[in-house]
Amino acid sequence: MARYRGPVCRLCRREGAKLFLKGDRCYKPSCPIEKRGTQPPGQHGNSVRRGKALVGYGLQLREKQKVKRIYFVLEGQFRNYFERARRFSGVTGQTLLIFLERRLDNAVYRAGFATSRRQARQLVNHGHIEVNGRKVDIPSFEVKAGDQISIKEASRSNPHIEGAWQTAAGRGRPSWINPLDEAEMSVRVSTLPAREDIDRSINEQLIVELYSK
Ligand code: SF4
Repeated sequence: MARYRGPVCRLCRREGAKLFLKGDRCYKPSCPIEKRGTQPPGQHGNSVRRGKALVGYGLQLREKQKVKRIYFVLEGQFRNYFERARRFSGVTGQTLLIFLERRLDNAVYRAGFATSRRQARQLVNHGHIEVNGRKVDIPSFEVKAGDQISIKEASRSNPHIEGAWQTAAGRGRPSWINPLDEAEMSVRVSTLPAREDIDRSINEQLIVELYSK
């Protein structure tokens, strides 16, 4: 499946939920979902697409698409996460979400080094991120409790990173990420994320049902 490259706000309207794809704008009243609600894109969004409420398979498929879009992963990667989660003891749907949440690009976003996961992925890809003092440029790298995530020294004056870092301090960070040093732009993964740290609008059970058919 090719990665979607169109206007990202359309994706939120299609999924009927805020997916936080556009950085700062997602937190402002100018977010189209805040302004217009969740009417699907297109002139006839409401009358055509939402004419019938989604049920069963359609609902399960939409939920999977939504989560893939939130975490910005392709079908094959997503399926691999699911298969790993299935092999783990515990609740498969929750384990799946926790694997996704532990991705380095997500942790960089949650830490406040970027205003969206998309921007966070670029920071990782372009070598701005260090984990425990060593450069890591693999977005899917899985963080673990105790890891220290930092911005490379030469990148700390990057205006995008600085701006994101300052606004994140005001917006707050999840409890599993503790800021360590404001000046050195560094955080510690204090513990693994738990289900309650992750978007509550996700119904992961629908995804489990979809892949269990
Ligand atoms: Fe656009 Fe962000 Fe609002 Fe989604 S949450 S509609 S990406 S501004």
